[in-house]
Amino acid sequence: MNIHPAMNNGIQAASDNFAGGTLTCLCDSNPVKVSVGAQTAHNHACGCTQCWKPEGALFSQVAVVGRDNVNVTENANKLSIVDPSQTIQRYACKDCGAHMYGRIEDTGHPFYGLDFIHTELSDDSGWSQPEFAAFVSSVIETGVNPDDMGAIRSRLTEIGLPTYDCLSPPLMDAIATHTAKASGALA
Ligand SMILES: [Zn+2]
Ligand SMILES: [Zn+2]
Repeated sequence: MNIHPAMNNGIQAASDNFAGGTLTCLCDSNPVKVSVGAQTAHNHACGCTQCWKPEGALFSQVAVVGRDNVNVTENANKLSIVDPSQTIQRYACKDCGAHMYGRIEDTGHPFYGLDFIHTELSDDSGWSQPEFAAFVSSVIETGVNPDDMGAIRSRLTEIGLPTYDCLSPPLMDAIATHTAKASGALA
């Protein structure tokens, strides 16, 4: 079962004092390069239909980092937004399809200020490790047989990733807190 190439053989732990690296798209020539100047957070496996996944993988691996730390350094002209109607504007390489970063422009969004990146596109090791699996049930929307879900959840648990059908409890709490502060329910 191909959960994700970076997780199939177990999870690589984050390195202390890791301060970022470079993401490179999959093109053999003139790859897009993105400099990330900080450690990532909330790295996780995601089963949603929007995240970019390596060929054959059931899940994506996606983390966040402050947008001020993300800079396209080479071949920016090859990037385009996958679907401008989505909340997260995913900038992908037009040639190889790799998503280089996802950005939220809605300043009222709970995750505004954070870019979504796939650290597997980096040769640097030490990125924050995956902590959970999100939107697990959504892999059915990508064509997975519902009968396989028990085995998929078991495998994720075996790898060490608690499984959720939305985001993790701390992230769901963060979203609800943001909403409550915006409405005035919380001071
Ligand atoms: Zn590319
Ligand atoms: Zn996703």
